[in-house]
Amino acid sequence: MAVNPFDIQGKLALITGSSRGLGFALAQGLAEQGARVIIHGRSEDTVNQAVQAIREATGSEAFGVTFDVTRSDEVKTALTQLVETHGVPEILVNNAGLQRRAPFTEFEPDDWDAVIATNLSSSFYVANALARHMSERGHGKIVNIGSVQSMLARQTIAPYSASKGGVVMLTKGMAADLARFNIQVNCISPGYFKTDMNTALWQDEAFNSWVENRTPAQRWGNVQELVGTLLYLCSDASSFVSGQNIFVDGGMTSVV
Ligand code: NDP
Repeated sequence: MAVNPFDIQGKLALITGSSRGLGFALAQGLAEQGARVIIHGRSEDTVNQAVQAIREATGSEAFGVTFDVTRSDEVKTALTQLVETHGVPEILVNNAGLQRRAPFTEFEPDDWDAVIATNLSSSFYVANALARHMSERGHGKIVNIGSVQSMLARQTIAPYSASKGGVVMLTKGMAADLARFNIQVNCISPGYFKTDMNTALWQDEAFNSWVENRTPAQRWGNVQELVGTLLYLCSDASSFVSGQNIFVDGGMTSVV
């Protein structure tokens, strides 16, 4: 029988920020393909609910882990325990993120620190802790979640845009170092998807019209539409693809 290059059956995947939103949809999508998924967030209750929901919906194994991605010490301790308990994840999806919106003159340094720590430093902390194990084993897949804002600026989110631009270059830098260990590092940059992060935006009629007019597909994305790209980047189908940033944005970044 022909080998399925997209097969991820039995692979262990850690998806940060999968207690809800895009991360939850990505985790569920991987679990539907037979991966064993580790659900992550800060609250045990929320994580446990997500674990239960994924087990019931997919029948796949799912586990939970909690830590604050902005705290390097907490990340290290939690991932050491995770590796001891479950083994080394073959797949890491750095998805946890935060957006703060304000006119530039009203941002405070604390906003900058929080956004950079949650969106950028976190990806370094988590990948740094796991890549050591992955490199010893000789394979691994790391997918960082960027944004169309890594390429397109918009008013009121300068720190967010900077953090996502950083994620793209972190992806390329990690890819350059880790390819020799057969670890591929890539980035998925989503367009606009309705989650808790942007409730204020999708509840705003004017913003909805802006998204529909600005996106060639003339609509918001559906979270399930991210899963295929993730599956590609998490499987052998992309074994010679590294350092890339794939926009899943209904064509938004290809037009002015
Ligand atoms: P949500 O706000 O819906 O979910 C954010 C997730 O990140 C939650 O699971 C949350 O966990 C976790 N998280 C946030 N801060 C921390 C922290 N300090 N430590 C641990 N976990 C944390 O966001 P989205 O699902 O919309 O976004 C997910 C990713 O996708 C982000 O990186 C975002 O930038 C990116 N993205 C989203 C787009 C969209 O349109 N929604 C578009 C482009 C990119 P907890 O339950 O503990 O709060």
